[in-house]
Amino acid sequence: MIIKNIKIVNKNSEVVEAEIKIEENRIVKVGKSVGNSDMVLDGKGKLLLPGGVDNHVHIYKTYLKVPTSDDVKKSTSAALLGGTTTVIDFAFVDREPNLDQRIEQFKDSATNYSFHIFANTVSSELSKIFERGFKSVKFMMIEYAGLKSSLSDLIKLNEFVKERGGYIMVHAEDEELIKVLSEGKVGEPALHLLTRPEETEISAVARVNAILDRGLIAHTSAGKSLDIIDHKRVKAEAVLHHLILDKSVYDRKDSYMYVTSPPVRDPEELWKRIDKVYVIATDHNWFNKSVKEAHNQFPDLVPGLPGIELRVPMIITEFIKRGLPLHRAIELLSENPARLNGLDTGAIKEGYRADLVLYDLSKKWKISINTTHMADWTPYEGYEVIGKVDTTIVNGEIVVEGSEIVSQKRGELLYNNL
Ligand SMILES: [Zn+2]
Repeated sequence: MIIKNIKIVNKNSEVVEAEIKIEENRIVKVGKSVGNSDMVLDGKGKLLLPGGVDNHVHIYKTYLKVPTSDDVKKSTSAALLGGTTTVIDFAFVDREPNLDQRIEQFKDSATNYSFHIFANTVSSELSKIFERGFKSVKFMMIEYAGLKSSLSDLIKLNEFVKERGGYIMVHAEDEELIKVLSEGKVGEPALHLLTRPEETEISAVARVNAILDRGLIAHTSAGKSLDIIDHKRVKAEAVLHHLILDKSVYDRKDSYMYVTSPPVRDPEELWKRIDKVYVIATDHNWFNKSVKEAHNQFPDLVPGLPGIELRVPMIITEFIKRGLPLHRAIELLSENPARLNGLDTGAIKEGYRADLVLYDLSKKWKISINTTHMADWTPYEGYEVIGKVDTTIVNGEIVVEGSEIVSQKRGELLYNNL
């Protein structure tokens, strides 16, 4: 297939005209003129973006107290409609769902997919998983799914990962500090923010930064966290809701809807330091309204927000509105998350997977539950988006056309080539 009449953003953030040739699931040529093919798609002057890579999603999460309201097909279909072609979710080492069970659950995935491995210590099972090609460990500094962790185990994991060429993604929150601050507190959802001030993140980030050789701080929520990381060793992930929502949502009547860990704070503190961010992900958690409503008092709240469909369009909108270079948005949304995980996607380059998006910058639309395909509410109601995903191509096949799903083709499992 050839896609003609497209525009691509180059390294200098200039928009240039191009054509692209795809054979099977690969990009084979990018240039001014790439020859002929039986199948020609007219890009109609739209922007061609590399497919989005969402480094942090929780799809069909059934292993915590409150399960998410989605299934794999629903969340990954929403991802495609929003220009994300690869998602990286999570699996446990030796408890359910383990890697094989997660792979089985993702057989209906519309996007390509891979997994980070939750591990709080080293084990022979973890070695085997690394040998299979999954080399990113997710380390939780707060108790998660009944798993406790310690810094001495993080040191052991760091050595383990260093020898094997992977990296450690850390949920950095200071459990002890949060426990002390929340002791005896019951009531309004705003307590979630009050018991998790930015110091609870910064102190955890400082500890992680002292230990890791190759790591990623997940969902960095405080600007100061970005200042204290040694970015050569430890990269920073920011997520959509921390970049868009601010803490005033916790003054709302329905503040329990906006609960997420870490809480949203002051997006401008992150935007000021956007140069220090390496990837933008979502931490997507699809909880319907009734689920959030059933847990509306601290500490019985359900953290997590839906975002998988909106990351690419909203971040592009923010970059345009803020006059930031568009190529940086592409790095944060696609190139860097793919590079971090050793995946052959996320860039418009010869030899890479043909995971691509035609983005129509002439369209403007407003976010509501009627214009999106995630959950029965949205934290971004009324937000005006610049541009719309028109066509999505996964593994060389058109799966979204005219902003509609046109193929039930399934995605592939991707391995870390680190
Ligand atoms: Zn998460």
